[in-house]
Amino acid sequence: MSSLERLPRQRPAHPPGEPVVQLHGLSKNYGAQQVLAALDFTLHKGEFVALVGPSGTGKTTLLRIIAGLERASHGQAQIAAQSAVVFQDPRLILAQRVWKNVVLQAWRQPDARQRAERALAEVGLGSKADAWPASLSGGEAQRVGIARALYREPDLLLLDEPFSALDAFTRRKVQDLVVDLWQQHRPGVLLVTHDIEEAVLLADRVLVLGAGEVRADIPVALPRTRDTTSREFNVIKRQVLEHLGRAQ
Ligand code: ADP
Ligand code: MG
Repeated sequence: MSSLERLPRQRPAHPPGEPVVQLHGLSKNYGAQQVLAALDFTLHKGEFVALVGPSGTGKTTLLRIIAGLERASHGQAQIAAQSAVVFQDPRLILAQRVWKNVVLQAWRQPDARQRAERALAEVGLGSKADAWPASLSGGEAQRVGIARALYREPDLLLLDEPFSALDAFTRRKVQDLVVDLWQQHRPGVLLVTHDIEEAVLLADRVLVLGAGEVRADIPVALPRTRDTTSREFNVIKRQVLEHLGRAQ
């Protein structure tokens, strides 16, 4: 029996909902280079999944295919109608005030401003609707990116290394915010990260991607908020590391 099997099993507080991502035999080539090879993977509404893998292994490509920003070469991808993406860089439009950065092209809708204010309040930026992006800190800018995603009321939230440009203190605060929002709204979450501790801290499952394949699918059956110093946490972290080592 592995040490992982001895861990206490915890029933999820909310059973997962309908599938929001279903991939069948999905592959992607760029010219002669095969980036993703026959991936099969399902993510349910309410589930928080982290995707880790060595650099250049196709994590961003997979996320962009799921987001509809890139086409797969082969296979099928069934994706929830309502999805939203947060990238590492929030890509704010400097010439537009914060609230217009939240609503983007929907700014003419009569309730757009009000809904933007609500989304901004949820990320702790209720007073920044009329601010200019250049006046924001890195953490605030990333929270505008999250508000922009929330505004779309997604069933699927796609996050591509959204915390990696933030300093350690801000990163922890924005991570906590994402978990709070996820627990409140219950979308399916797919978080791409190269930070194993972050993956085990935040996710219900950690997928290890290597050479375009899912090499491991590791459940994280630990109650939240998680203690990164606990034995159980580190057993799982080590397991992810071992699979990642083999995925290089
Ligand atoms: P990761 O996010 O895991 O670091 P990426 O998905 O960004 O990896 O990239 C995977 C591989 O696909 C890399 O070798 C990268 O150079 C290649 N790649 C990504 N996008 C393109 C593109 N638009 N054209 C050609 N090759 C690409
Ligand atoms: Mg990437």
